[in-house]
Amino acid sequence: RQAAFRTDLSSLLDLVGTGKESLSFMKRRMRRLASQWGTAAQRLHAKLRQRWREQKKILVHVGFLTEESGDVFSPKVLKGGPLGEMVQWADILTALHVLGHNLKISMSVKELQGFLGVPPGRGSCPLTGPLPFDLIYTDYHGMQQMKQHMGLSLKRHKCHIRVIDTFGTEPAYNHEDYATLHGYRTNWGYWNLNSRQYMTMFPHTPDNSFMGFVSEELNDTEKSSIMRNKVNNMAVVYGKEASMWKLQGKEGFLQILHRYMEVHGTVYYETQRPPEVPAYVKNHGLLPQHELQTLLRKAKLFIGFGFPYEGPAPLEAIANGCIYLQPKFHPPHSSLNHEFFRGKPTSREVSSQHPYAEQYIGRPHVMTVDYNNSQEFDSAIREIMSTKVEPYLPYEYTCEGMLERVHAYIEHQDFCTPEAPFPPANSSSKLGLSSSASPGPLFVLLPNSSALTWAPNANAPPAWPPLSSLRLLASQEGQSCVEACQRANLVCEPALFRFVNNREALRGLEVQCEVVEAEVNHVFPAFSVLRRECGLQKDPLLYSCAGLSPKYRRLCPCRDYRRGQVALCRDCL
Ligand code: UDP
Repeated sequence: RQAAFRTDLSSLLDLVGTGKESLSFMKRRMRRLASQWGTAAQRLHAKLRQRWREQKKILVHVGFLTEESGDVFSPKVLKGGPLGEMVQWADILTALHVLGHNLKISMSVKELQGFLGVPPGRGSCPLTGPLPFDLIYTDYHGMQQMKQHMGLSLKRHKCHIRVIDTFGTEPAYNHEDYATLHGYRTNWGYWNLNSRQYMTMFPHTPDNSFMGFVSEELNDTEKSSIMRNKVNNMAVVYGKEASMWKLQGKEGFLQILHRYMEVHGTVYYETQRPPEVPAYVKNHGLLPQHELQTLLRKAKLFIGFGFPYEGPAPLEAIANGCIYLQPKFHPPHSSLNHEFFRGKPTSREVSSQHPYAEQYIGRPHVMTVDYNNSQEFDSAIREIMSTKVEPYLPYEYTCEGMLERVHAYIEHQDFCTPEAPFPPANSSSKLGLSSSASPGPLFVLLPNSSALTWAPNANAPPAWPPLSSLRLLASQEGQSCVEACQRANLVCEPALFRFVNNREALRGLEVQCEVVEAEVNHVFPAFSVLRRECGLQKDPLLYSCAGLSPKYRRLCPCRDYRRGQVALCRDCL
């Protein structure tokens, strides 16, 4: 069956269910954004020009909202608890519905069992027949529940699973044996998935797929009216829970802010003003999303205090014409030095409260400064008050951008079909760079660049992203492929590692290897200049953009990307 775009959300709203604040929050959001989704669907429909899309059978199992996982989120929806996850799940459900797929939603283990056709009770009765779904979107809680209730059959079906994983999971943590041997085990588990099956809230490491969420998009009339009505000395503080306002070390910069601006907050409180919030702050209490938008439309500044990390609110503020001011983290926060990230399956270094805002948006919409330096802070505030900015939303966070990306993943990401070996087992001699028998060069040096570009020949198997997007680079010692590709205005593409994990790639880069060895090591393929040693990757599950080692320069498969849609290359759609 063909999938047809849907512009009406009513059947989705019926599917979501009732009885919990989290569900009501998601439904309110769906209703509020319904017309934006509708317009986006029409635009993408036109862009894809009647391309055949198969209607997929999709199960969405929201593990963290099940009673069986303890559901600590729902009771806190109206009390300042985290809402980012609910924003994202609401948007994922809407995107899948709008794309026209056949959706089932489960929010309890019982429903999960019903949909999968496994008998109630624990793992002893695994699913014997085929999986009744093409795709299952779930989270880490849901993975645990499926393991308990599907037993070993989970392994057989896991290529169909996508794990919604806010902060991301790096390959070294995902690989059970490797994590166990090398100290990367965490409580989140080591599921031996392809790392691209983990889908994140922001494009953290390209090892994972960037799923994202959406923010409201404004038309030109709304934009100019917002710009006309901005109150230049009005600031809103990012932080809906009183604990985010604990003022150790914060008095200084808050005082400075207060000197110039009227400070507003949306901090949850029951009866009394939370003592953490200074008296001069105008606290509105936790607001419904649409009222927060209204407040942001008037405010000039949205200011972060360092927590929460990487939420949706800064994007909403920027989309409503605020400048987002946030602290730089020196040294960066990571699982090594900060409680919040401790035990998370990533070694990512978080350079500010919202690295996406810092790196992908930047000035004039985002200013990242050292809050301990009162001069720097002071001049930032003055600059903000006198700078005019337009509301801005990166394309990848619009409804159309999210639909386009989710569509591309559904059409092209296949973790079930085994990949053909590369280079093909019997033809490696023919593919050699210098071999005269070669049907055409495998790598061609780009003019004026240190990158090698790929000229696919007849022997190259199809890939997504396509090989035409591949640029091969060598990182510096101690540099990851995430960084090496970024420096070249490209992005690391884990799906293309398999094409550069070979001697031809090493030769193409003119690497001197005395030995070439294949090993299970998350920084391989790589080479050591000093020791003239080269290493290829033995286990494809360990291909890692994030990996780095001071001893090695890495072989990095980089690719181009669309402006405002980093998940997709030019020829990816
Ligand atoms: N939000 C809200 N009312 C408020 C403050 C925030 O509805 O008074 C919403 C906001 O619109 C955003 C969501 O809370 O979409 C989550 O924002 P945040 O960045 O704080 O992330 P979290 O830490 O909750 O995941």
